[in-house]
Amino acid sequence: MASDSESETDFTDVFRELSQRRKASTGMRAIRKAQKQAASIPDSRAIFQPGIRVTKRVTLALAASGHQGLAEKIAKCDRKKGICGSIYCQKCREGLSTSLLKRTKKNLLHKFQDNEEGLFTELRHVSGLVDITALQPSDIRFAIKQAREVFERAAHRRPWFKAEGAFELELVDFKHMDRMSPLYSPEKKTSLEDLLSGTLTRPMYGDDEMVVLVHWHALMVGLDDTTGLTREGGRQSTRGSAFSVLRKHYHRHRQLYVQPLRRPKVSSTIAKDISKICSYPFKNAYRLKYTFEGSDYQNGEYVDFKTLGEFIHVYRQIGRHGNKGLQISYGSRPS
Ligand SMILES: [Zn+2]
Repeated sequence: MASDSESETDFTDVFRELSQRRKASTGMRAIRKAQKQAASIPDSRAIFQPGIRVTKRVTLALAASGHQGLAEKIAKCDRKKGICGSIYCQKCREGLSTSLLKRTKKNLLHKFQDNEEGLFTELRHVSGLVDITALQPSDIRFAIKQAREVFERAAHRRPWFKAEGAFELELVDFKHMDRMSPLYSPEKKTSLEDLLSGTLTRPMYGDDEMVVLVHWHALMVGLDDTTGLTREGGRQSTRGSAFSVLRKHYHRHRQLYVQPLRRPKVSSTIAKDISKICSYPFKNAYRLKYTFEGSDYQNGEYVDFKTLGEFIHVYRQIGRHGNKGLQISYGSRPS
């Protein structure tokens, strides 16, 4: 198995055919042809060659994993006739970022309209590592469900606590763990090892098995706030802040990163920073990533055909209608 996945198949003919077809006919016909050819390639675990356009990678990956239906939905998606909803569709990915930004403005930022300083003292960009799971919808859903229960506990009777964000799934390949040297990110390697050590009850993952890192990114307000809790039913409350609830769950192998907004030199970049944070959870990764920072996939190995296609398909299944399955939204204002 391991040696198969190392081998590289030459797709030159597929892409030559694809580009000729594209010139000669409509995009759809070219895609169908490429799908057929990709499906006929015997080694479907082949590694992608560099320098291939993302749309082609996605189409070929889905074809190799037997999900042609989703490939066609993505190719046809124009966000009018029907939204494919895949994070691997550029239009849908942009749409998801935009709608998260809209929710953030409506539910979180409105209170800072005349109080820019409040953005720095109260608004937090928070990320949490939930778990490592198999590339199986049921396992991923279970991890997300557990994380939601923690958010619900944090939001319970704390109307000042608000969060807008999304769950993100990321492929991890233990074969390449050595790449996580101090040159990249030692923190990530330690975190992944800690996560794995915290999941001893599970079957061990095979050396050639890719697993999924379930985590989330959200903007939050009222994280440290305990006002309104001081007296409850005539008694002093012992409940702490929403942060203390999160902290209780996210410790040891589950990590929590809390960052204030960085103070920019010009205030116009605050909006830019917030909109960038709102695009964080929607990455169309096709390479492995060794750091927690941003979307820097430039150094990572390419994910093999079949695994990537399966991942794109599972991602869409978890998202469900309108990607509600990935959405994080607590304390929203009624529309
Ligand atoms: Zn789409």
